[in-house]
Amino acid sequence: MSPPPSSSRYDLDRDQLAELLAGEPRYRIDQLWDGLYRQGRDLGGLSNVPKALRARLDDELPTALEPVAESVSDDGETVKWLWRLPDDRSVETVLMHYADRSTVCISTQAGCAMACGFCATGQAGFERNLSIGEIVEQVIRARQHALPRRLSNVVLMGMGEPLANLDRVWPAVERIHGDLGLSARHLTISTVGIIPGIRRLTEAPLPVNLAVSLHAANDELRDELVPINRRYPLAALAEACDAYVEATHRRLSFEWALIDGVNDRRRDAEELAAYARARRAHVNLIPLNPTPGYPTRGTPPDRVAAFAALLSDLGANATVRRNRGTDIDAACGQLRATHAADDQRTSTVTLSEARIARRSTSPVSTVAPGQTTDS
Ligand code: SAH
Repeated sequence: MSPPPSSSRYDLDRDQLAELLAGEPRYRIDQLWDGLYRQGRDLGGLSNVPKALRARLDDELPTALEPVAESVSDDGETVKWLWRLPDDRSVETVLMHYADRSTVCISTQAGCAMACGFCATGQAGFERNLSIGEIVEQVIRARQHALPRRLSNVVLMGMGEPLANLDRVWPAVERIHGDLGLSARHLTISTVGIIPGIRRLTEAPLPVNLAVSLHAANDELRDELVPINRRYPLAALAEACDAYVEATHRRLSFEWALIDGVNDRRRDAEELAAYARARRAHVNLIPLNPTPGYPTRGTPPDRVAAFAALLSDLGANATVRRNRGTDIDAACGQLRATHAADDQRTSTVTLSEARIARRSTSPVSTVAPGQTTDS
């Protein structure tokens, strides 16, 4: 296959790189593939490759992500980037270090068409799908930054709906697994519940973890919170989830953003427990982050604990996610939203200025959606 037009560096697979460099000796392709793609090194670091060839590659295969802002939590364990894409769109990536692992939460689309009212990305609407290279490059960058710690986990839980961009997301997942060497059990795709996409994943050869953003376990409430439920209602979603678990033997998890007075009542816990129990799914609870377009507050901590205890009494497995990076704009789409506001004040915001701006304009409690997973 020929390289796609206007490729960025990580859009290419090995054969496409070889084709682009037709005429170069085989060992040169091996060197480049190993250095750039498997190890994720910069062109400048490939001292065994002639300068002229490095310059040509820099020109013909530029990287896709230009850092606009980098924010680091006070304890240094959470790093969030806002990237500018070649067409001036922007997306976010979050790296989280834990005692036993390092996880990156990556975006799959600029914007999102799913229109979940409480989500900052959903409020802004859909812009475009990310390319394979734009998805893979987020992992390469985070892995480089994580050193000397080893990036062990990837969650596709940043901006966008992965299963609405599966033609690019899946090859990127295969690349992250095959070329970057992350194990399938450490890769998690999070979806709003697009059934044809779940079915495609069920057929795929690589069994990744599946997280479904449930937030409501009755159709009336879910139709409202997660509008795609009108097309793919809970009973059909359950069937698709069950088929996935049966085929892959991977653990299924349900994400549940606890919204004060909306989905945190006893009845909600009962419906959720029944739905989760029936498919032995794990429930991840997280208090909602208020966003400008949905100012309802998250459930307060004491009631989050009570909801979790009730689920457990009802026989469902649940974990409360702790808020990480509360001092940075870490909710999905929030860094981008705040940055747009900054841009109105100053036309050029350098990376270091942006970092200071991030620190001084911390919003109310924030957490990256990706931080709701334990994978
Ligand atoms: N579209 C995919 C992945 C991106 S959203 C999905 O829906 O799963 C990642 C997670 O963040 C989802 O569970 C989403 O519902 C959640 N989320 C979005 N906005 C949030 C907010 N303001 N507070 C808490 N969780 C939020």
